[in-house]
Amino acid sequence: MKSNKSTVKAMPRKAAGGAAGQPIAPLVKQILECLGEDTGREGLARTPERVERALQFLTSGYEMDVNKVVNGALFAVKYDQMVIMKDIEFFSMCEHHMLPFFGKVHVAYIPRNRVIGLSKLPRLVDVFARRLQIQERMTQQIAQTIQELINPVGVGVICEARHFCMMMRGVEKQHSGAVTSAMLGAFRNRKETRDEFLALANTPAGR
Ligand SMILES: [Zn+2]
Repeated sequence: MKSNKSTVKAMPRKAAGGAAGQPIAPLVKQILECLGEDTGREGLARTPERVERALQFLTSGYEMDVNKVVNGALFAVKYDQMVIMKDIEFFSMCEHHMLPFFGKVHVAYIPRNRVIGLSKLPRLVDVFARRLQIQERMTQQIAQTIQELINPVGVGVICEARHFCMMMRGVEKQHSGAVTSAMLGAFRNRKETRDEFLALANTPAGR
């Protein structure tokens, strides 16, 4: 887990406000007041600005351009076996409660004639994690983007996540996780391809 310090450093926007350009801090102050808080007390004095910067970072995916993120790291190859990257950590925010959901994404594809630089896959995941999301859509967007970037024989994405909106409130199912998947091309049409991916995804990393 990153410290607050490094998170603040990573803040992408300098100007105040969200993507729509309006300052968020005064609204956070209003929320605190609605909660019955004394916004003048020391601990809360700079909270509205901190929340604004945190929200800017957590929604910075809206302003990321997939092509800039990949930055030309698409390479011609003859390789036609499955490429798999497991356990890509992500942190996102559910659009229904604006609470975090987080977990791991496993990505696999079979190249047709191009591959993506491996280090770019976690950054692609961040593009879609750092915005208000639902897990199903995020999973689909990652798969679709890889499909469009390199037109592979097939692509599969599995996402395992835990949702604070379930863990902290309401049902309080603290140990329940949700698994979503998106299968395109050969991963959808060929059972043995899908099974190979599922078997690899279920093997603990490092084996
Ligand atoms: Zn939720």
